[in-house]
Amino acid sequence: MNHDNSRNLFDLARKYIPGGVNSPVRAFKSVGGDPLFFKAGEGAWLTDSDDNRYIDYVGAWGPLILGHRNEKVIAALTEQLEKGLGYGASTEGEVEIAQKICELVPSIEQVRLVTSGTEATMSAIRLARGFTKRDKVVKFEGCYHGHVDGLLVKAGSGALTLGEPDSLGVPKAYTKLTHVLSYNDIDGVKEFFAEHGDEIACIIVEPVAGNMNFVAPVPGFLETLREVCSKHGAVLIFDEVMTGFRVGLGGAQGVYGVTPDLTTLGKVIGGGLPVGAFGGRKDIMQHIAPSGAVYQAGTLSGSPLAVAAGLAMLNSISEPGFYDKLGSQAEKLVTGLKERAAAANVPFTTNQLGGMFGLFFSGESQVSHFEQVMACNAEHFRTFFHAMLDNGVYLAPSSFEAGFISAAHGDTEIATTLDAAERAFAAIAT
Ligand SMILES: *Cc1c(COP(=O)(O)O)cnc(C)c1O
Repeated sequence: MNHDNSRNLFDLARKYIPGGVNSPVRAFKSVGGDPLFFKAGEGAWLTDSDDNRYIDYVGAWGPLILGHRNEKVIAALTEQLEKGLGYGASTEGEVEIAQKICELVPSIEQVRLVTSGTEATMSAIRLARGFTKRDKVVKFEGCYHGHVDGLLVKAGSGALTLGEPDSLGVPKAYTKLTHVLSYNDIDGVKEFFAEHGDEIACIIVEPVAGNMNFVAPVPGFLETLREVCSKHGAVLIFDEVMTGFRVGLGGAQGVYGVTPDLTTLGKVIGGGLPVGAFGGRKDIMQHIAPSGAVYQAGTLSGSPLAVAAGLAMLNSISEPGFYDKLGSQAEKLVTGLKERAAAANVPFTTNQLGGMFGLFFSGESQVSHFEQVMACNAEHFRTFFHAMLDNGVYLAPSSFEAGFISAAHGDTEIATTLDAAERAFAAIAT
């Protein structure tokens, strides 16, 4: 496979863009080699700058749940383009999408639109602090909540990929207010809250962790978070920027039946354009300006284009049977991968929920803790990643990222992927 154009673009990019990329994980640091540059996407497929085609399991990191260039999303965008790009004032569409979000996620009684997931979590934390008049925040190791100063402590994903869990430039004083506990450690949460519960403004958690590969909550974990927050007057924030409308129509909270006080959203709700949102209990949301004294604002918030794309997306995924189909395709994929790994004698397991999955080069039968994720065979992943790429399958270029499937991934794409995987597992075995 020829990658000359990508290589040349990367050389040029490094001259003008730090590290040649606009977000660290894109740089292929954890898999080695040069990153690819893409020029088009259609359905389940991506085309790179050298005209190579790949089946895409990144989906723009989650938003493209309908695949690239979905016709309803494109039609909604085209219609809005005729009417203008933005007015810096209120529009009918933003009311419509707010109503739709509140209908689909019952714990959200009111919602505020922002422009990224980072803004959503940053604002939700400020709101929780303003509401409780407390300063301390609890997060979990390996959970990523955007590049908010106070949350860049033991954050997953890009930070793990770089091997730098913390960032320079974040004052110690900021992160002193952030307590980090172990994901899925129920006793750890109970013990911490017994001692410090009354000082805690909020817990922020990915209800299914998608930034340390893909790890589901163990039974009782989310329930315990709900319990300690209610008991100690802390706000429970589910960061569903990734899982919202991804693992199911009602998000992870719908799947597990645990109700947070606030929810942050992003990725899918923008249909591929930059959007985030945070929402929840009305008595808490009322503290946001202009109705309350917690300040939050955004020049491009509720961008009509992003709202149009998001609405078209939400309407499509609300159709009956959408998630059954998506989930069954994802299941076919991970089951097929496990069979091929077993045939090649490569220690390997998977997690999957709705349209998300995780691949683990691990001998464990079940991966549900951060330490297990970190113990996976990185060398095997690197070999697998590059072999898949050479065979026309684009996976996330890091073993700490979740995989995403779209409604455009049909049986043909799954079969082609599994054929590629057979060769990739063979490459590891030799
Ligand atoms: C992607 C992500 C964010 C950050 O969203 P951006 O739009 O990249 O700022 C926050 N939380 C979670 C769980 C995410 O997956």
